[in-house]
Amino acid sequence: MDKKYDILVVGSGLFGAVFAAEAHKKGLKVLVIDKRKHCGGNVYCENIDGINVHKYGAHIFHTSDVEVWRYVNNIVEMNRYTNQPVANYKGKLYNLPFNMNTFYQMWGVTTPAEAKAKIEEQRQAVLKRMRAANVVEPRNLEEQARMLIGDDIFEILIKGYTEKQWGRSCEELPAFIIKRLPVRFTFDNNYFNDNYQGIPIGGYNRLIDGLLNGIEVRVDTDYFKNREMFDNIANTIVFTGQIDEFFDYKLGHLHYRTVRFEQEQFNTSNYQGNAVVNYTAADVPYTRIIEHKHFEFGSQQTTIISREYSTEWRDGMEPYYPINDERNNKLAEQYRELGAKTDNVIFGGRLAEYKYFDMDKVVRSALDAFRKFKKN
Ligand code: FAD
Ligand code: UDP
Repeated sequence: MDKKYDILVVGSGLFGAVFAAEAHKKGLKVLVIDKRKHCGGNVYCENIDGINVHKYGAHIFHTSDVEVWRYVNNIVEMNRYTNQPVANYKGKLYNLPFNMNTFYQMWGVTTPAEAKAKIEEQRQAVLKRMRAANVVEPRNLEEQARMLIGDDIFEILIKGYTEKQWGRSCEELPAFIIKRLPVRFTFDNNYFNDNYQGIPIGGYNRLIDGLLNGIEVRVDTDYFKNREMFDNIANTIVFTGQIDEFFDYKLGHLHYRTVRFEQEQFNTSNYQGNAVVNYTAADVPYTRIIEHKHFEFGSQQTTIISREYSTEWRDGMEPYYPINDERNNKLAEQYRELGAKTDNVIFGGRLAEYKYFDMDKVVRSALDAFRKFKKN
């Protein structure tokens, strides 16, 4: 029997919104629901006194995927924001990612040759220590970082920040986490290596509203509170919530790390002069402070900041970062296998796939998922 909708999309984050938009363009009848009181998932911004506050953490769009960049630019214009975070260690400022500015601030070196020589001197000392301890390959993040960049940068810019972010010592963390931090011998503070970067002019809600334009959306609506009804309302379900919840946690709970945001408004037009300042010392309890207006070059009279505290996740908290250890990876794989056997349900996005995805990867994944759906 024909159902009322062709597609029910559970979750109005980027995955759900892109899938819904593509389906709508093809003339399919789509309903989007979200259990939150707003659309957009984690890219949602709350406008407070003209400032777009990134409620679920700072979001910077960056990509080298031309199709995704054009797709997004067809809906909203992107500004020229380039992420250039600064690190504060005991009151002294360093540029990130590690580049000639950082090396100058750290050691006073002014040329790439001097910087390379300084890092090499430190690396050799680290390698000598490792050889003496019979360590051949770096066994953890601490060894990897010291081996890549030396002791000074590890102690000042990596150790405290990483341990706060992950809630465990650098010796217990896998080496791969640090491999993605760029090291440059140019005076280039751009945090990302991607070809394109920016923030939607007017904020992320414009992107989501543009995607969902003309589509029926119900917020404050939890799929699990009315599951039977929703299962019968559409021919296909696109599910972007937590995959373990979809299967009633029957194999166990997947674990996450979460972030607590402490928001404060000040009667000053400029609090820290940059959108992102990382606090890399262990004795500062938060990992970083975001000053939201700088993402859009705001000229408001007041400003809003968020201090970020990285926290162990418990049920009921926002699930932010998947924990890619052996237990969770294995469990996620088992849930994905169950998902693959479930007819008429497409699982997509960061919660349903239990993967950390940047926004561009989520857009790509939703476009690909829709193409596959159309083909079948
Ligand atoms: P979500 O945005 O989480 O959307 C899922 C939606 O499903 C939510 O709205 C949720 O309410 C809804 N939902 C769940 N269960 C139900 C249910 N039972 N019923 C109804 N609705 C339900 N990416 C970048 O590219 N750049 C960045 O700078 C960046 N910063 C980030 C910072 C943080 C702190 C985090 C956590 C992520 C960041 N990301 C960043 C990643 C980015 O947030 C994700 O790529 C993107 O938001 C994922 O979209 P999604 O649709 O998969 O998930
Ligand atoms: N990192 C660090 N010091 C910093 C910023 C990052 O040591 O000031 C390390 C840290 O281990 C972190 C990793 O680099 O987990 C990746 O950083 P990124 O900012 O890319 O992580 P995100 O917060 O986006 O997950």
